[in-house]
Amino acid sequence: MQYPILITDVSPRDGLQNEPEILPVAVRVALIERLLAAGVPRIELGSFVNPKQVPQMAGSAEVAAELQAHGHELRDRRRFTALIPNMKGYELATAAGLGHVRLVLAASEGLNQANFKRSVADSLADFAHIAARAQADGIGFGIAIGAAFGCPFDGYVAPERVRDIAAHLIALGADELILADTTGMAVPTQVAHLSRILLDGGTIGAGLAQPIITLHLHNTRNTGYANAFAAWQAGIRSFDASLGGIGGCPFAPRAVGNIATEDTVHMLNGIGAATGIDLAALIAAADWLSEQMHKSLPALVGKAEPVFAQVTAP
Ligand code: ZN
Repeated sequence: MQYPILITDVSPRDGLQNEPEILPVAVRVALIERLLAAGVPRIELGSFVNPKQVPQMAGSAEVAAELQAHGHELRDRRRFTALIPNMKGYELATAAGLGHVRLVLAASEGLNQANFKRSVADSLADFAHIAARAQADGIGFGIAIGAAFGCPFDGYVAPERVRDIAAHLIALGADELILADTTGMAVPTQVAHLSRILLDGGTIGAGLAQPIITLHLHNTRNTGYANAFAAWQAGIRSFDASLGGIGGCPFAPRAVGNIATEDTVHMLNGIGAATGIDLAALIAAADWLSEQMHKSLPALVGKAEPVFAQVTAP
C-alpha cells in the first residue's frame, strides 16, 4: 500500500552514528524490526564506512544479514537503503544485499572538505564512477546534498548552488535527491523556496527531471518541524526522520538530532497527511529505544501523549 507521505527512518544510521553509546548489532536489528512492525515504510539501516572512523556503524553487514535471515527483502529499494561514502562502501552494501544506497556530499566546500577531505568537484567525479557501476548492476541510488541551506564553516548556501549540484546529480541518474539541513540552520521560507525550485522547476530550476525529493531536517535550533511543514506546503512528500529524535552533529556538540519520527508523524496525522505508520507502536518503539540507550530522548509526543493518534480529515 502506498501512502501519500514517504517516511524514511534514519535512526539506525544518522541517529546512532552521532550518539556516544555504541549499540550492538542485535539491538540495532531489534530497533529496525520494531520500526518495520510499526509500519515505517523505509529504513536507512546503517552505513558502510570505515569502522575505525565511525565505530557506531561497525557491523552494518551483520545488521543486513540478520534482517535477511528474518525474511526481510533488502533488495527492495523502496524499503531499505544505507549510506555509503565511496566505491568500497558501494561494494560492501550491495554484497550485504541492499538494492538501494545513498551517497552524500555537501553543497559547501567547507563542509565537504571537513567531512570528506575533498572538493565538491572531486566528490561529483567519484560519484560518476559509482553511478555508472550502480546502473550496470541495477542498484538504485540517492544522493544527499548536505548543508543545503547553510554550512557551519561557509555560512548561508545559495539555492542556485544547490540547484546546480542537483542538476548534476540528476544527470548521473540518481533516483532520489536528499536535501539535508545537516546542522539545522534552515528557516521555513528558505526550505519552501528550495523545495519549490527542485519540485516545479521554477525560474532557476527549469529543466530539472524529477527523482524523489526528500527533506532531511535536523532540529538543532528548533526549526525542524516548522521546516518540515513548510516543505510539505511546498509539495514535498518524502521525509527522513529519526525515532526519538536521536542523533546530533559532531560540529555542534550539544545539538539534538533529526526531527523525531513520532513527532513528525503526529503533525502529519493532524494535517491529514497519511504515512501508514501506527503512531502508538512507534511511541512504544521509542520508549524501548530510550531504555536501550539509558537516557531520555528529545522527541516530545510520547511524553505529552498524542492528540492525533490517527490521520484526521484535512
Ligand atoms: Zn543528518
